[in-house]
Amino acid sequence: MKNAIEIRDLKKTYKKSKRSPAKVALKGVDLDIPRGSIFGLLGPNGAGKSTIINIMAGLTVKSSGTVNINGYDIDVNERNAKASIGVVPQEINYDPYFTPLESLELQAGLYGVPKCERRSKEILEMVGLSDQMNAYARSLSGGMKRRLLMAKAMVHNPPILVLDEPTAGVDIELRRQLWDNVKLLNEQGVTILLTTHYLEEAQELCERIAIINHGAVIVCEDKDKLIGRLDSKEIIFKLDRDIASPIETLSYNVIDKRSISVSYSPNEQNAGDIIGVVQDAGYRIIDITTKQSDLEDIFLQMTGK
Ligand code: ADP
Repeated sequence: MKNAIEIRDLKKTYKKSKRSPAKVALKGVDLDIPRGSIFGLLGPNGAGKSTIINIMAGLTVKSSGTVNINGYDIDVNERNAKASIGVVPQEINYDPYFTPLESLELQAGLYGVPKCERRSKEILEMVGLSDQMNAYARSLSGGMKRRLLMAKAMVHNPPILVLDEPTAGVDIELRRQLWDNVKLLNEQGVTILLTTHYLEEAQELCERIAIINHGAVIVCEDKDKLIGRLDSKEIIFKLDRDIASPIETLSYNVIDKRSISVSYSPNEQNAGDIIGVVQDAGYRIIDITTKQSDLEDIFLQMTGK
């Protein structure tokens, strides 16, 4: 199979409870995650990312559709499907009194990995925790604890690793370290699926990206193509007087009598030229602000809202 994960028409409605009404979380999601790739699942809070991951991990029951993991349909061959993925949870939960080595051995036991097949030390080396192998987990730094979580998700040697918001609330330096780790694992052949709401993270790591919003995939394509869509910036001008007649040779939106916004593509135009056009039209510029496109802008562009 070319794809590590294939999802077809996946739907999920959470039943109504005493506290909340029924909630449609997934509206028919199709996803192909190529084997050996780093794939990013992007979307704002509440988009349905965790629901997809939880269904794959067997923690949430889908309403309909099919999910195939590593060639195993989760309905037909749940055991093998589950054995094929390791999920690194978002929140740090660790056993403070165990050393990383003990933690991994314990986890391997839970997965029923025979002693002769365990690779605890090798995995700790992969995530850069060899030196801390015998230290108490509570003495590890935040980044080390996250790497220990990654290691724990890999004890049963899954070909697919799922990272749920791997760097939420993590500082820049640590984020970079974790990214290096993810890249290293991928180079060793592990398919990585990560959810994130940091565009920068997806930009740095992922070859292919799906954006989901309100339970539906609104785009799924190679990163470079998606970043291409981001080739848009906005300049807002505050002018010295009311705009009397339209400024020829410039396409802009009027914000109020003395302010306009100009959207442009930095690949094709530079800000200086646009400023020049405004000045040539006889206006003095009182103030300029610029806005870089972000994920939100792509959503706006794509959903047309
Ligand atoms: P994300 O991970 O992208 O933030 P989720 O998959 O957690 O999104 O949530 C998708 C939608 O389903 C949200 O509207 C959320 O409120 C709802 N939801 C998630 N889990 C439950 C649940 N256990 N019961 C009811 N609704 C839920």
